Amino acid sequence: MAKFQCICGERLWNGLVPNDIQIHATEIELWNKAMSENVAVLDWPEEDVWRCPQCFRLYLFKGIKVTEVYELEEVSKAANRIETCKCGNKDIFQEYVVYTDKEIDGLTSDVDYINEMPQPRRVVHRCKDCLRVYSFNYDSMEMKSYVYVPNAFDESEEK
Ligand SMILES: [Zn+2]
Ligand SMILES: [Zn+2]
Repeated sequence: MAKFQCICGERLWNGLVPNDIQIHATEIELWNKAMSENVAVLDWPEEDVWRCPQCFRLYLFKGIKVTEVYELEEVSKAANRIETCKCGNKDIFQEYVVYTDKEIDGLTSDVDYINEMPQPRRVVHRCKDCLRVYSFNYDSMEMKSYVYVPNAFDESEEK
């Protein structure tokens, strides 16, 4: 359990079980490998992603250190695939499988293996060049883009 204050002032914590703050993300390659090897579900990577419910900033933590910050750039009713990044690059996207902590909690009590997990409700891509993150949500049918904010935080910032 941890607490962290967002740049906007919102105080975040992941003490509620389940919560809407914490997001579980893994690269699609690792997800597919886990599926093909039929491993247990809860093998998420060390990196922790938190999302502020007020301003929607995303924070990446390694351990308790903030390593990356992203700010919401645009919400649109665009297509669910990104062909060209806003920076101009094409086909250089890293794809992620993403669940909120709340979604995971609702699923894992009845699921023993990763290949029993339903398809996540969103598709997430990251441009390998400018590091923009694009997240398409199948429930709202909205595409959100986020920009990477360099040096948004002091190195010593901890949650
Ligand atoms: Zn915030
Ligand atoms: Zn880009």
